[in-house]
Amino acid sequence: MKIYNSLTDKKEEFIPLQEGKVTMYVCGPTVYNYVHIGNMRPVITFDMVYKYFKYLGYDVLYASNFTDVNPKIIKAAEELGISEREVADKFIKAYLDDLQNYNCADIDYRPRVIDHIEDIFNFITKLIEKDYAYIVDGDVYFRVSKIKDYGILSNQDINDLISGSRVDIDEKKENPLDFALWRKTDKGENFDSPWSKGIPGWHTECVVMINKLFGPKIDIHAGGVDLKFPHHENEIAQSIALNNNYIANYWMHNGHININNEKMSKSLNNFILAKDFIKEHSPNIIKLAIFTTHYRLPINFTDKVFEDAQNIDNKISSVLKNANLYLNVHNLHKIDKNTKDSTFEEYMNDDFNTPNVITYLLSLVKELNQELRNNGDNILLLTNKIMTITSILGLEYACPELTESQKDTYQRWLEARNNKDFEKADLYRTKLTKENML
Ligand SMILES: [Zn+2]
Repeated sequence: MKIYNSLTDKKEEFIPLQEGKVTMYVCGPTVYNYVHIGNMRPVITFDMVYKYFKYLGYDVLYASNFTDVNPKIIKAAEELGISEREVADKFIKAYLDDLQNYNCADIDYRPRVIDHIEDIFNFITKLIEKDYAYIVDGDVYFRVSKIKDYGILSNQDINDLISGSRVDIDEKKENPLDFALWRKTDKGENFDSPWSKGIPGWHTECVVMINKLFGPKIDIHAGGVDLKFPHHENEIAQSIALNNNYIANYWMHNGHININNEKMSKSLNNFILAKDFIKEHSPNIIKLAIFTTHYRLPINFTDKVFEDAQNIDNKISSVLKNANLYLNVHNLHKIDKNTKDSTFEEYMNDDFNTPNVITYLLSLVKELNQELRNNGDNILLLTNKIMTITSILGLEYACPELTESQKDTYQRWLEARNNKDFEKADLYRTKLTKENML
């Protein structure tokens, strides 16, 4: 299996740290607001990656954090007139509801910064002891000049970074690239540290939680491409300093989402919140819209993209309903969502090439329609392949076992149709449609 590694900018053979096991971490949201559909791309993408590793038989451990200590949360608390904990709890709950509604909630750990303040103190203390960090007026900064490989992930030259506008110029720092591990503040919720009352820096949180959960190194660290610099670069710098590694052997980054060729932004007022999108579309639509583009490429969401996704969804849903009826009345209903398919694996093993998987899925749909017309022998196998692939993509389709009375209604519908009793046939048809069988 090959994965494109952002660290080396190459597709590389995936070799886990421990045979048969995969550890993965994806940067989660800062919980000060509702998430928009752009935030759902990494969630949906790495949910698919997680499910595919499981399909391959790996024992996978997947963590994604909540950044619940952050200046944005302090600001939101002030604006909403509630405490920081209330802000965090409110938006963690809203986020978990979104994940449930999008069927992406399956994960092993959801660590929170608030539970790791002591670990953060210990981590920063070690960096200071090793001279990788320095204290200025209660703030603690990381000394980037000590990291020879700084810029390795974002492929940037240190001098370009300094001259560019992407780093804060702050007179307290030895070097403009140095970043805060700890920031002194008496605003909002803050913590008594050995250096000052303050809050931890965002870049430190993820490294601390990864080390705590998994140890010094994991297999895959992932997130949106916008996190490459400075966030992930700074995570790597700290890990080089303390553990002499890049935290993860494979770094994966998903592309961003545009809406009608424009970046989603508050000023353009083109934000689509995940919770609002789901009111009009099923989660299958956004997933199909996302998977028809390779995860590393940017996506441009337009009405056409959603229409196309809706068409694909209709095709899959319709053939599965017909196949399900067939399998039920022929007593062949043995749904197995772990049916192996080498073509599917070939595409997935090529850096999760989901656009090819969707094309292949549509060819399976076509084949299954043909088999149903001809009462072929492969109806169960094709149904199981489609059920397996769609469930790994996180798409929801049901192939339930029908009750005797449902089967009876179906038989009566077929009979009425054969006898050209269209009035009766219509009645049965309505009943079947109501019960979502047609
Ligand atoms: Zn992170």
